[in-house]
Amino acid sequence: MPITPTQFQPILDAVQLASSLCRRVQQTDVIPAEKPGREPVTIADYGSQAILCRAVALHFPDDGVIAEESSAQFLSGLQPHQRQRVVTLVSETLRESVTEAEVIGWMDYGRNRDTSRKWVIDPIDGTKGFLGQRRYTIAIGLLENHRPIAGALGSPGYSSPSGLGRMTYALNGEAWQIDLAGREATRIQVSKRLPSDGYITAESFESDHADHAMISGIYEQAGVLQPIIERMDGQDKYAMIAAGEADVYLRLSPKRDYKEKIWDHAAGVAVIEAAGGRVTDMYGNALDFSLGQQLDSNTFVVVSNGQIHDALVQAIQAAYA
Ligand code: AMP
Ligand code: MG
Repeated sequence: MPITPTQFQPILDAVQLASSLCRRVQQTDVIPAEKPGREPVTIADYGSQAILCRAVALHFPDDGVIAEESSAQFLSGLQPHQRQRVVTLVSETLRESVTEAEVIGWMDYGRNRDTSRKWVIDPIDGTKGFLGQRRYTIAIGLLENHRPIAGALGSPGYSSPSGLGRMTYALNGEAWQIDLAGREATRIQVSKRLPSDGYITAESFESDHADHAMISGIYEQAGVLQPIIERMDGQDKYAMIAAGEADVYLRLSPKRDYKEKIWDHAAGVAVIEAAGGRVTDMYGNALDFSLGQQLDSNTFVVVSNGQIHDALVQAIQAAYA
């Protein structure tokens, strides 16, 4: 059964609310806490995840959820006053008083369920960007039988008329973008640009996540000469290509055996495919979302408007041969 725009609307509303919570925390009181593995996490990650999972719990109660954060970390990693701050932020954002028990329940909603439909959530994708006062993305994708079929990306740092950022989303094979403070969404499509038109490329800001020198060599090999390079955190890179504002995004981790997390890609893939673009690994294979939390059978990620995708894939294979 396809999801109708009316059924999907509460998810879009939740992304908008989560985006406003994150913006508020970024502007006022960013408090990094550390979680195992040394990836940063903040009170906004927990607040955002509670709001997104609450929408799934209320509107898609039978579906499964795979989300980056968990209540176990919320309880073990935050001081009591930080947990209270999360509860207050969620209450103020929703404009209704919620309890810590509710926040904890939402955070783990739908976890470990064996369902054909699963929501994949990264409450703040690009937390390092969030902490560095740069861009970041609130991401929720929907897998049906392990394929990304819908999703929404909240991008508070994406330039927009209101100054509050944009949301990019996909549903039923169509991609759309809307000002986070706006009412009218615009249908979007990837660019048709060729390298000779001049390319805009997107890549991770963090050099730990993307080998910038390798990427520039591969562009040269594939005939993309002197691209304008836009570096940013999170899945805003996917959003910009879907909207035709960038043409290619190569994600080549300096750690060749790095296994990508599904929440860093599920929503992005849905948006790109609905906008007419392509996403594969370095061998041209589709990303395999059937293996749990990681894309264990894929190496690297190639996102493009489709025009020279095969040439890029070949250049990457040659560079790593
Ligand atoms: P980005 O903001 O696009 O650079 O990506 C942010 C994501 O990179 C985080 O959510 C992490 O899951 C992921 N990440 C962490 N370490 C690495 C790494 N060594 N290589 C690639 N991605 C990583
Ligand atoms: Mg992430």
